[in-house]
Amino acid sequence: MNEMNKPIIVHNTESLRAVISKWKSEGQKISFVPTMGALHEGHLSLVRIAEEKSDKVVVSIFVNPTQFAPHEDFDKYPRQEEKDIELLADENADLVFIPNAGEMYPQNDTTAVKVGIVSENFEGEFRPGHFEGVATVVLKLLLQVMPDFAVFGEKDFQQLAVIRRMCENLFVPVEIIGAPIARDEFGLALSSRNAYLSEESLNIARGLNRVISDLAEQAKITEGNLENLCEAASQKLIDIGFEAVDYLSIVDEKSLEPIESLSKHSGKARILVTARIQGVRLLDNMRI
Ligand code: AMP
Repeated sequence: MNEMNKPIIVHNTESLRAVISKWKSEGQKISFVPTMGALHEGHLSLVRIAEEKSDKVVVSIFVNPTQFAPHEDFDKYPRQEEKDIELLADENADLVFIPNAGEMYPQNDTTAVKVGIVSENFEGEFRPGHFEGVATVVLKLLLQVMPDFAVFGEKDFQQLAVIRRMCENLFVPVEIIGAPIARDEFGLALSSRNAYLSEESLNIARGLNRVISDLAEQAKITEGNLENLCEAASQKLIDIGFEAVDYLSIVDEKSLEPIESLSKHSGKARILVTARIQGVRLLDNMRI
């Protein structure tokens, strides 16, 4: 790591706010990238977008306990703080905020943010309480950092929709930016959870993007019902070796409501899918 590029590291809100206030008094624009660490090229692509938008880039690393259900992988979620800081230094991030759970959730903390309908289907159905945890921590982080821009990946498309809705509804003064999905050379969306997969599962996982790309092409030309195409694509995922398909739907990008036919739909449409392999839930999505 080059000493010159070393980001400022802070662990509490008070030190964070002191730096942010100074930057704001100098008229610097600030972008923010929240993460749970275990950084890969997907996260770094967000940092680069943040850099283009503003003078200063703040990245947070916090594995948020409230967005994991009791049976999920909170304890085994990959943690590599030193390496993450090095990667962020190489990208010229200006500040890394690494709070502990006590800083984010003090003892008297009884407040939570519930976003409603966009958070209820899909991931909301399979991970009860997940989006309440996400919305609450993201609002806390936004109020701590007070950025001009905050960058989130389209990889977690429903999360992006939930955060946009929350910021709109609560008048949070920040511009939310959605960043394209970073993929490996075979089209698999990069994810910290890919590290849990065996070589064989990884090969199957790489078929996910191919199946939804084909579905997108078929959806554009079909005169029939999209639901049948989605069912056939789900079956295809099972045929190539996925253990289960939690959901595969074509939805309106803003409301996340399922669409019956593209020709009758005026907004933008997106395929949302989550399929499981080796017990790992893999998310992907694609605009049609
Ligand atoms: P996480 O650390 O998994 O909570 O992700 C932090 C941010 O990085 C979120 O906004 C994610 O949507 C985004 N992200 C994760 N993986 C990717 C990817 N492959 N492409 C683009 N953004 C991503």
